[in-house]
Amino acid sequence: MSDSSLLVIGAGVAGLLAARDLARAGRRVTVLEARDRVGGRIHTITGDGFTAAVEGGAEFIHGAAPLTKALLREAGVPWHDTAGRNYQLRDGQLREAEDFISDMPRLQQALQGLEHDLPLADFLDRYFGGANNAELRRQVRQFAEGYDLADPRRASTLALRAEWAAGGAEDSPRPVGGYAQLVELLLRHCRAAGVTVHLNAPVHTVRWQAGHVRCEGPAGAFEARQALLTVPLGVLQAPPEAPGALRFKPKLPGLRAAAAALGMGTVVKVLLEFDEAFWASAEAPRPAPELGFVFADVAMPTWWSQLPDPRPVLTGWLGGPGADPAASAEQLLEQALTSLAGIFGLSEAQLRGHLRAHRVVNWGADPWARGAYTYTTVGAAAARQVLSTPVADTLFFAGEALYTGEAGGTVEAALSSAAAVVPLLQ
Ligand SMILES: Cc1cc2nc3c(=O)[nH]c(=O)nc-3n(C[C@H](O)[C@H](O)[C@H](O)COP(=O)(O)OP(=O)(O)OC[C@H]3O[C@@H](n4cnc5c(N)ncnc54)[C@H](O)[C@@H]3O)c2cc1C
Repeated sequence: MSDSSLLVIGAGVAGLLAARDLARAGRRVTVLEARDRVGGRIHTITGDGFTAAVEGGAEFIHGAAPLTKALLREAGVPWHDTAGRNYQLRDGQLREAEDFISDMPRLQQALQGLEHDLPLADFLDRYFGGANNAELRRQVRQFAEGYDLADPRRASTLALRAEWAAGGAEDSPRPVGGYAQLVELLLRHCRAAGVTVHLNAPVHTVRWQAGHVRCEGPAGAFEARQALLTVPLGVLQAPPEAPGALRFKPKLPGLRAAAAALGMGTVVKVLLEFDEAFWASAEAPRPAPELGFVFADVAMPTWWSQLPDPRPVLTGWLGGPGADPAASAEQLLEQALTSLAGIFGLSEAQLRGHLRAHRVVNWGADPWARGAYTYTTVGAAAARQVLSTPVADTLFFAGEALYTGEAGGTVEAALSSAAAVVPLLQ
């Protein structure tokens, strides 16, 4: 190949892994990243009053995750299982949490018998209609929306069946000290392999013809023989006038349609560090010693501690339709504290008295993410096939949304999709 130039758009783990491997294979790689940092949806936060790192984005290692674990090992980062007891607020009491879905055997039976895919909402209507199943329908929808960030009207029932069989977040370990260490390792490898990384370089227009790409943005125009786009699905779905949107010239209607056929869920994460773990005290109105996770029917319904790390940090999680991209950080902090006050039987003023550091991360409002992670829709396989097919041997795509295995919506998914595209570009 005479011209080995390649532009990689996006410096999340998918972009960095591909850039590193392709530079090592002899390509001249330039990475263009919109943010002032690398890592994308891995966003380990230090400072801001926190006594140690907290995760604004990815936090857990889901499933076997061989690529993720290999990189963490190489970076010398151990991981710890989560610890603690899981609580649920029921009848004004904090009790040991029950299963999210109380009638799991009946649900499993219906799921196992399913031969053809259909949206989750249709599945529930067909197999669990009627007033007597209203609670089961509510529980299943709530779980799909809150954990998978899925819209039940579009989510693939077969994909959820496979994922639910594999277990939930509370079984998953965390990298000690944060996921950013994996990103830093990839960045070091990229630099050692000769990759040029431009931060603060958002691309708003991709002009292309077979064998030539020109990426334009406020940081200038960059040209190469090929480009690999690793921007999140939310960015590919964004209408041209939206903040962060990408325009292709000439247009790629097939790509737009494929992106629209996939589902991007959104989430708000609220990180709170207190002066002490007041919830563990025997004098607390509703003591929750060794709190791991707590679930409650409040505006911000899911919370977890950092156990086995004893820091008095609680993380709030609001996924699905309740995670309003338009809500301000102050509104969301208020919502978080009101929810926690309701869970622990304290006043908001008491909670504010204990609060030492806080950070609200609203992924739906982030122009370079426009959501948190993808969920599998009915028909997603065909859409992913379109996105995974290079355009005129010139435009290539990778990233979490393109992954087709059972670890969807994860760091592993992003790494795997990048590893899959590398041979096409070598
Ligand atoms: C709140 C949250 C919690 C999560 N929890 C977990 C978890 O516990 N475990 C897990 O495994 N995964 C988790 N994930 C998912 C995981 O973080 C992602 O799947 C993974 O990091 C995606 O990597 P990526 O490289 O595909 O995309 P990204 O990390 O999003 O990288 C894409 C990059 O493209 C850049 N970009 C966007 N638009 C442009 C543009 N126009 N020009 C230039 N650059 C652009 C972005 O700034 C970004 O850096 C979570 C995600 C979120 C948001």
